[in-house]
Amino acid sequence: MQDYLERIYQDVCQVNPAEPEFQQAVHEVLDTLSPVLKRHREFVDAGVLERLVEPERQYIFRVPWVDDDGKIHVNRGYRIGFNSALGPYKGGLRFHPSVNISIIKFLGFEQIFKNSLTRQRIGGGKGGSNFNPQGRSDAEIMRFCQSFMTSLYQHIGEYTDVPAGDIGVGGREIGYLFGQYRRLTNRYEAGVLTGKAVNWGGSLLRTEATGYGTVLFAASMMAKRGSDLEDKRVVVSGSGNVAIYAIEKAQQLGAHVVAFSDSSGYVFDEAGVDVALLRQVKEVQRGRVADYVKARPQATLHTKGSIWDIPCAIALPCATQNELDEAAARTLIANGVEVVAEGANMPCTPAAVELFQAANCLFGPGKAANAGGVATSALEMEQNASREQWPAEKAEAKLVRIMADIHEECAETAAEYGEPGNYVMGANIAGFVRVANAIVDQGII
Ligand code: NDP
Repeated sequence: MQDYLERIYQDVCQVNPAEPEFQQAVHEVLDTLSPVLKRHREFVDAGVLERLVEPERQYIFRVPWVDDDGKIHVNRGYRIGFNSALGPYKGGLRFHPSVNISIIKFLGFEQIFKNSLTRQRIGGGKGGSNFNPQGRSDAEIMRFCQSFMTSLYQHIGEYTDVPAGDIGVGGREIGYLFGQYRRLTNRYEAGVLTGKAVNWGGSLLRTEATGYGTVLFAASMMAKRGSDLEDKRVVVSGSGNVAIYAIEKAQQLGAHVVAFSDSSGYVFDEAGVDVALLRQVKEVQRGRVADYVKARPQATLHTKGSIWDIPCAIALPCATQNELDEAAARTLIANGVEVVAEGANMPCTPAAVELFQAANCLFGPGKAANAGGVATSALEMEQNASREQWPAEKAEAKLVRIMADIHEECAETAAEYGEPGNYVMGANIAGFVRVANAIVDQGII
């Protein structure tokens, strides 16, 4: 079976050269599937893997827009429908200068298994642009979003493909994208985008869901070992949507969060992060981490070194892919880290993951640990379809249940396949089996 998996991986590398992130994501999944293919020969016979690694569809488009000085810019837009065996494509849009086809494909591929783990009827997709929103005015962001949607709108729909936010795309961008979709289609199709504002179709708790869910997943892993977050020292990378609400939930569960970051550096705040101030700086002022330190002088800003040098019991990487490498993992382990849960997608390099597992550190992979965001997006779609809005308590109770179920399924699957405690294997196999069965059932398409 290993030869078969190796051949698929080599084919992926050959067909998708110069796409290292996509190759890495595929390798990470294939690496754990040998035992399941031995039990389920029908997946091999039906060519499930060959079909899974090739996106069903990919759109690349030009996004021209005009800045406030009248200068014309051109960016590249992407939307990839990776697999829709379980439902309409679902996955966020990322606006960041680093975006390219490899990054969008890695994210879309991960999304297939993540969405499968939520047990909601959603397939995997992803999109975005190499547009850099940093330093742009609201009017520039609006013009960019309108141009992006003008190309995208004909490919999406509540039964086809439902984009949401990711890095650089939050409530403001979703608003502009939705407005343009409505204008172009002459339809108020609320379920076409998620992450909407709560006063016009959004779900309460969607903003908090990814960060909250990541901490809930960490708490479930710890509970299985008879431990909890109370008084534990936590380091969170990033200071965006996922990071802020991971910090908030960790604090609600009694943990002591001492650091966060952005691409300009990290902040160490021994007294404990003031999450209200962080929200003010990041969500209202759209500032940098340095602005937090200006308002809280006892905190220190570090523009050299790594946030992972700070000793902690719980590490929550919530910024971006491959941000926590082998050297950082060694430092964390030497400093006694007990739990790592990925709020971001693929933030730990494969070598780092191996080290955490070898050190018997609890490791929650992103496709399980950060699935609370997309799960709540599916709850938003459910509310849109029934024209309801649930109270926050109901949305939170559902999120808590979903994260507990994902944890349980990953833990049980890992144990069933002989590697108890291996959440990477548990998540990959559990996510894969559900989507593989759907692919087999639906024939060769
Ligand atoms: P945001 O744009 O809100 O925040 C991203 C944060 O990460 C910012 O602090 C940003 O700093 C930092 N960051 C981004 N790129 C880099 C980089 N190359 N180097 C250093 N720091 C960087 O994004 P989200 O919080 O929404 O997303 C964070 C991660 O979580 C991503 O991996 C995303 O795919 C994943 N995720 C998000 C979900 C969601 O619901 N939003 C759902 C599931 C996963 P700066 O501002 O300086 O760029």
